[in-house]
Amino acid sequence: MSVEVIVHRGTSEIGGNCIEIRTSSTRIILDVGQPLFKPNREPYDRWETRGKTKEELLAFGYIPSVPGLFTPGLNVDAILLSHAHPDHTGLLPYTPDEIPVYASRGTSKMMLASSVFAAQVKLPRERHVEVIPGMPFQIGEMTVTGYDVDHSIFGCLAYRVEVDGKAILYTGDLRHHGRKPGMMNKLIEACREKQLDLIIVEGTNIEADDDSNVTEYELEEQITKQIADAATLVFACFSPLHVDRLVSFYKAARRNGRVFVADVYTAFVFYLLQRDAHLPSVEPSSGIRVYYPDNFLTSRPNKLKETLAKEFLHARIDLDEIFTEPQKYVMMFRPSMMSNEWGKHILDRVVCLHSRWAGYLDENDWAEFRHRYIDMFDDEPEKVGKLLTLHTSGHIVRKDLISLLGSINAKAVLPIHTFGGEVFSNCVDNVLCVKDGQTLLT
Ligand SMILES: [Zn+2]
Repeated sequence: MSVEVIVHRGTSEIGGNCIEIRTSSTRIILDVGQPLFKPNREPYDRWETRGKTKEELLAFGYIPSVPGLFTPGLNVDAILLSHAHPDHTGLLPYTPDEIPVYASRGTSKMMLASSVFAAQVKLPRERHVEVIPGMPFQIGEMTVTGYDVDHSIFGCLAYRVEVDGKAILYTGDLRHHGRKPGMMNKLIEACREKQLDLIIVEGTNIEADDDSNVTEYELEEQITKQIADAATLVFACFSPLHVDRLVSFYKAARRNGRVFVADVYTAFVFYLLQRDAHLPSVEPSSGIRVYYPDNFLTSRPNKLKETLAKEFLHARIDLDEIFTEPQKYVMMFRPSMMSNEWGKHILDRVVCLHSRWAGYLDENDWAEFRHRYIDMFDDEPEKVGKLLTLHTSGHIVRKDLISLLGSINAKAVLPIHTFGGEVFSNCVDNVLCVKDGQTLLT
């Protein structure tokens, strides 16, 4: 029996992951991601694909042509999701309802939160099969095991697939500088039990100039210092699904004796993951209050949002209270929050700690923030606010990647989620250069 691997998309771009492993009787798909970039490497505008039919999206290559998954063809037995980022899950609504979707409980929760608050895709409950990390399960003739990995969203898994005496590992997205470096050690241990025939490994940062891996703990220290130095209100801008980062900001706020003001999206993440991630409960006594933006119920109305509107009322805080004693708070912030009610709340020396990729600051939605807290004080330099990026990557840096591949010692390495596939060959041995759609025999 031969085992075939086809990367339908992802060999030469970041995002849009879609990988197939198949034998004569079983087909599984690892991730069904939407692409982040066009073939000319220009990023997709988030509105560009709105309202387009599946046929139109297939015609211009946004959806890859995969029989049985996106076009008619032989049955696919399962879709396995590595984590809840749209470049790994975004094409799920275009797949047949009868294909079961395997994912961790954390991923299903992250998809629930992001579907309600960020218009991202849902994981339909009736399709979800929960993967428990470390517990092997069977799909046709394949034995699959999920392993926890650390990345910039909660609930990520790598998958090891064994069939016909062959072992293949798909890493999904991962890093070694988060709050749980032990996850990587466990993964390496599991991969050493039997030599891997193939590792399909993410390489987002393989060609990045900056190879420094500021750890999440070091970042917490940097955030703590900035909060300590701030004279007044501190805004925190990051994805609430990035639970490591949420913990870093919450702890940094508490270490400075400040209250962490969550928005309802963030409060929902605290609520969903309270047990799974050992997060504090949303209570004033935990140092958490909840701000309800005034467009909370009108933007993307949803039944669950209506329920949540009541869930956190006991911890609610409004802008008047925040701006009356602004030095007491670290407040979750997104430029889209700044609706009419912000009009009267002018404040000098505001510090905004932007904890995402710095390129997001070039987007137009920061104009209002800059106008209100920075440009407003052009003639009074001592009152000008600060907008600082304090961030560390969700992806493994080159030196950690080289060390990971050295420790695992797979017979062959297939880079994915990277623009630098050819750089791999300069750094590690046994790299396969394959193109999207090419069939690989293991
Ligand atoms: Zn990711």
